[in-house]
Amino acid sequence: MKIVRRAAALLAALAAVALPVPAAHGEAAGAPKGRTVVALTFDDGDATHLAVARMLQKRGMRGTFYINTDTIGRDEKLTRDQVAAIAKGGHEIGGHTLTHVRLTELTRNEQRPQICDDRRALVEWGYRPTTLAYPFGSVDGDAKAVARECGYDAARVVGGLQQWSCPGCVAAEDLRPKDRYGIRTPGSIREDTLLRQMKQQVLNAEKAGGGLVPMVFHRVCDDCGLYSTSPKTMNAFLDWLVTRKARGTVVKTLQDAVGARFRPLPARDASS
Ligand SMILES: [Zn+2]
Repeated sequence: MKIVRRAAALLAALAAVALPVPAAHGEAAGAPKGRTVVALTFDDGDATHLAVARMLQKRGMRGTFYINTDTIGRDEKLTRDQVAAIAKGGHEIGGHTLTHVRLTELTRNEQRPQICDDRRALVEWGYRPTTLAYPFGSVDGDAKAVARECGYDAARVVGGLQQWSCPGCVAAEDLRPKDRYGIRTPGSIREDTLLRQMKQQVLNAEKAGGGLVPMVFHRVCDDCGLYSTSPKTMNAFLDWLVTRKARGTVVKTLQDAVGARFRPLPARDASS
């Protein structure tokens, strides 16, 4: 009798605890839905990115900055001190290969130093890089395998998600991406991308029930090339993003968005 009563009490306690679980599992079975997470990523270690980092910080946001360690300190690129200042602001510093090569044009043995030695330099500079962005979004099976070998826990491509040029694509990446070495994005934001179109990328994800929207930016300056965004547009977009918080939409680094963890560097070998 006592045992029965205790079992009944236990069952009741379990039921109280377990009640919300079926709903959560139901969500996890498909694409992770609910909240929309925007990852603002900035490629190439452009000199304008220090100001961008401050724009984000002013709004309590953190971004992801993909740098090419071999070009840091060159004309129009960040200096090492500036990269350090960005990292100090709480932003993610990720890898983008040594010299911004098109990985698909390299053999696997040539890809390895580009990805591994770049990551090794980041580690030697004191960072804990967990995610990589493939230059030009150019990727093949070898590059994905090498990214993993080099210790990256996730990597970002360019494209694959819904935008004006791909209305039929899915609106958001999964928050636990099925292909962690092929995290999809809408196409790169360009000089001719309208603020309205940038907002639409986020709205599409919200409407589709949430998920991850990594956005790909390059330079942030006026009239400075096809792959650029004016500071005015960037500020307006960030101000608008702040207002989406009410809708549950948040900004995270790509690393935090997908839960990427630091993995050790591979041992140096003859090929690297
Ligand atoms: Zn790039």
